[in-house]
Amino acid sequence: ALRGALLAWYDERKRDLPWRRLATAEPDADRRAYAVWVSEIMLQQTQVATVIDYYNRWMQKWPTLQALAEASLEVSVAGAGCPPCPYSSSSNVTLCLLEQEVNELWAGLGYYSRGKRLQEAARKVVAEMAGRMPRTAEDLQKLLPGVGRYTAGAIASISYGQATGVVDGNVIRVLCRLRCIGADSSSPAVIDRLWDMANALVDRNRPGDFNQALMELGATVCVPKAPLCGECPVKQHCRARCRKLFGKPPPVPDVEDCGVGDCPLCPPAAEPWDSSLGVTNFPRKAAKKQSRVARAATCVLERRGCRGAPEYLIVQRPSSGLLAGLWEFPSLPLTQDLQEEKQREVLADHLQAWMGQPVAAGSLRLIGEVIHIFSHIHQTYVVYSLPLDGDVTLDPALSPSRWVTEEEFHASAVSTAMKKV
Ligand code: SF4
Repeated sequence: ALRGALLAWYDERKRDLPWRRLATAEPDADRRAYAVWVSEIMLQQTQVATVIDYYNRWMQKWPTLQALAEASLEVSVAGAGCPPCPYSSSSNVTLCLLEQEVNELWAGLGYYSRGKRLQEAARKVVAEMAGRMPRTAEDLQKLLPGVGRYTAGAIASISYGQATGVVDGNVIRVLCRLRCIGADSSSPAVIDRLWDMANALVDRNRPGDFNQALMELGATVCVPKAPLCGECPVKQHCRARCRKLFGKPPPVPDVEDCGVGDCPLCPPAAEPWDSSLGVTNFPRKAAKKQSRVARAATCVLERRGCRGAPEYLIVQRPSSGLLAGLWEFPSLPLTQDLQEEKQREVLADHLQAWMGQPVAAGSLRLIGEVIHIFSHIHQTYVVYSLPLDGDVTLDPALSPSRWVTEEEFHASAVSTAMKKV
């Protein structure tokens, strides 16, 4: 009954999203899988509304897995006689130019390694699997870099019709509420049980639609803060709602002593049901870790370009770590308690290394501070500017750097934090 109610609701109410349109219209299963795969990778940690434009641009540029893999071949031929690559210290021109394109398209979506891994996986399918995607969740997860259990389940069920469940943040919330699972929802015991439940629940005839329906319910109705229980297609089956309405969940038929002892799924005894929270008692999360606080000084160096328009210096970040391979205004980390005078001095020294000429600390103009919250870092940029009269020769031995107009800056692979700066 739950499956039928959920699928009927999905058929009537599902949002019209570009990847759903592609996956429905595409008769070829591998092309369908590619369309789903790209969307699932982009949707990890990123909102649907943000992803839509990025997805459309990506699919226009590389509409198939072969197109994405072949792009690297074209670049390889063009790059054979290239001078040293201006964008990257990588000795492999093929990869560094394509990475650059992917980074530019991905800029603003965050978690940049996702795009890179998608590329690697596409090349692997074409080079080692004759262009044929693995067709089960187990093989997808085992053989493709960057494809985890959830993405594998989504591709296999939506594109190849495998009756396998999926568990993402939305599904965790819905299932924990449906079954009053009150233990820490990130604990291995709960996660294992949720996967078992998702695999048992999935509709055998329409697994892809069922999984999407469960996720859609979590995204639009069973939302984190104010779920719309009155409009919910599965409210008759929901133990959390029953508990809210009647003060206790319906009895569990096959667990005689549920709620007694150390059940790994029930709310811990120290944190009982809070009636003011209603169904949002579930899912229960472990206490959030504090974000790391970090400060950096950054300088917008400006010169008059050859066409008269202002140009700005951007430099490339290292190829691993936070915002790997992206471009930024020259920046350096600051210790927390550094006074402004000292900040100017260390920044001036840093710029001097780039420009190969002395920079007076007093010539740096303090513009203000920009705060950007990364998933685990509370970052403050202390922003300075420095207009330059003459030209400067950049040291090619340092990281790659280039001068860009404002328009070119926005089209480059720069992070959202740098756009704020
Ligand atoms: Fe979520 Fe409410 Fe539906 Fe239960 S009834 S699944 S809590 S929206």
